Amino acid sequence: MPNASTACQSYGHASIEKQRQRLPVYKYRTSILYLVESHATTIVVGETGSGKTTQIPQYLKEAGWADGGRVIACTQPRRLAVQAVASRVAEEMGVKLGEEVGYTIRFEDISNPDATRIKFLTDGVLLREMMDDPLLTKYSVIMVDEAHERSISTDILLGLLKKIQKRRPELRLIISSATIEAKSMSNFFQSRRRRLSEGEEHTPRLEPAVLSVEGRGFNVQIHYVEEPVQDYVQATVSTVLLIHDQEPAGDILVFLTGQDDIEAAIKLLTEEARTNGKNSSGLIILPLYSGLSRAEQDLVFSPTPKGKRKVVISTNIAETSLTLEGIVYVVDSGFSKQKFYNPISDIENLVVAPISKASARQRAGRAGRIRPGKCYRLYTEEYFLNEMSAQGIPEIQRSNLVSCVIQLKALGIDNILGFDWPASPSPESMIRALEVLYSLGVLDDDAKLTSPVGFQVAELPLEPMISKMILASNELGCSEEIITIAAVLSIQSIWFSGRGAQKELDEAKLRFAAAEGDHVTFLNIYKGFLQSGKSSKWCHKNFINYHAMKKVMEIREQLKRIALRLGITMKSCETDTQLVRKAVTAGFFANACRLEDSFMAMLKYTVVVLFLLLTIDYGSSSRFIKENSSHLSDGMDQQKPIGASVSDEVGRLTTTVTCQATYGFLPCTTKVWGKLFLLVIYEYLLSLAQKYVARGSNL
Ligand code: ADP
Ligand code: MG
Repeated sequence: MPNASTACQSYGHASIEKQRQRLPVYKYRTSILYLVESHATTIVVGETGSGKTTQIPQYLKEAGWADGGRVIACTQPRRLAVQAVASRVAEEMGVKLGEEVGYTIRFEDISNPDATRIKFLTDGVLLREMMDDPLLTKYSVIMVDEAHERSISTDILLGLLKKIQKRRPELRLIISSATIEAKSMSNFFQSRRRRLSEGEEHTPRLEPAVLSVEGRGFNVQIHYVEEPVQDYVQATVSTVLLIHDQEPAGDILVFLTGQDDIEAAIKLLTEEARTNGKNSSGLIILPLYSGLSRAEQDLVFSPTPKGKRKVVISTNIAETSLTLEGIVYVVDSGFSKQKFYNPISDIENLVVAPISKASARQRAGRAGRIRPGKCYRLYTEEYFLNEMSAQGIPEIQRSNLVSCVIQLKALGIDNILGFDWPASPSPESMIRALEVLYSLGVLDDDAKLTSPVGFQVAELPLEPMISKMILASNELGCSEEIITIAAVLSIQSIWFSGRGAQKELDEAKLRFAAAEGDHVTFLNIYKGFLQSGKSSKWCHKNFINYHAMKKVMEIREQLKRIALRLGITMKSCETDTQLVRKAVTAGFFANACRLEDSFMAMLKYTVVVLFLLLTIDYGSSSRFIKENSSHLSDGMDQQKPIGASVSDEVGRLTTTVTCQATYGFLPCTTKVWGKLFLLVIYEYLLSLAQKYVARGSNL
């Protein structure tokens, strides 16, 4: 199958030019350029696929915004989207990627400071660039794309760009998105502007301009399930086969939640298509999630051969960030993976959670790009109408804020609570983040960055805990090993995903397992990889992802360069893993817990059993535990069907985690008073016993 680049080259440049002119945004070219010229901020709202991301930066360049060495930036929340759109734009312009058009994501810079005029980058990378150049002076226009996603870095960026604009009136901002509430974004950029006296006019005008790009989406018929589905992966597969069997030609886009269920669905779909005797040869089944290799990404964008039907099984990256041509049918599971943070337990979970109505509409819209399409929702209509939330919650209100706080501090924003946020984070999360940074020695008593530790931690493009671990390794003399561990922790997984080979994968993991824990296990794998001569065969044999290991090597080199710049000397502790563990603990002490000695554990157990015997109604308590534990596993694997009762799934999940973390295996009765009584006595006896043991050990 041809990849995207060869396919496009065979169409020729003239044909690309025609394609560009057919995009809805083309009609607005002059208006967009006029608004950008005359307004400090322009908000562009337009349906996915209308050409905002790929075309607007090119229009700006053609109009001279990149002349005189200036650069046009376009940010995206997702790494994969950055790579895909950058390569598409380079192709459209007929230039080599990394020269006139380039991109930068964390640990991967495909740009040339002297030649790159249009630069795609993640919003996080642009924030990092502000540390070296706080006013982002090399950029003439910054387009913050996919603003409706409300990623944590987008929100911080918007707040900071608003500040920068006051110092650099010549800087132009474009905020673009598919479904953004233009009004609230416009208000955000409007607020706190100085009122002008009558007759006075600013150039550029300070109030934001709003432009809506009319799409030409076709009608999409929506189908709902009648009963909530029990297993959405299975339901997805059945629906795809049904479409393939009964519907005319047209590609299918399926929305699932992550690599694991996408791979499970692919396996099931391939098997069922074969065993059902259906014509599986007509199906081209492809995954789409971040972490795919470039070749796999290209397959997704390449045109479907005649007589075939492409089935792309994707995370919500295909919801708005990437547009696939040829999609006529959409299957929407109703779920996506979302981050949720509980500042009290300090636990951040990546949870499979129901999507919002706004997302569901976006997903359905993907079916109507080339002709009228159909969307199959694997939830009931009643659930969609009555239970689905209207909008998602901005990431900043459901994340751990440690990295966000340190970034703002490093940029000199000391009053973080008073920062101009598009959506304010919760004070509890903010306090928790300040506490963690203080205990890491990154902030001082006045909540200012400490010198040198705070500044060094901020300089490393890693989570503060990992950065602290690296700094500690310098003193302990194990920086070589810790930098390897930090590099491994920076990628998703070094294991080859266990597509139908879970047992072999587990055995492979056992071969490297170290009693000291995962971090030392990573070191064993890295050593093995080096000893094999960095061989792909060795990786294959041991279920290790060769591309991931190559990436680890690259990241390791980059981290080493930064560490040397920070004055860290490279030293190996050879086989002394005690030092490695000390360094890991210096960074991650907040995740530590104390193992009780066996006497205490016995005592606790006896007390609990005694009370259980005396007070508990067995039926209800065992049901409760069962229900809770199934909720816990629900978090990552199976979900309750939506359309049943999942509206407060996430809330219950976090409470369950806290409850289990605090009270171990203590079951609760359904009677609240009985439960409270039990807990008070239990805690009291425990504290007495602890005192007794402490006294005993002193003696
Ligand atoms: P928007 O940002 O408004 O959602 P885009 O600029 O991303 O729209 O897409 C415009 C057009 O370019 C779409 O028709 C899309 O199919 C095409 N396109 C974008 N990226 C690629 C790619 N990597 N390969 C092939 N076509 C692409
Ligand atoms: Mg886009």
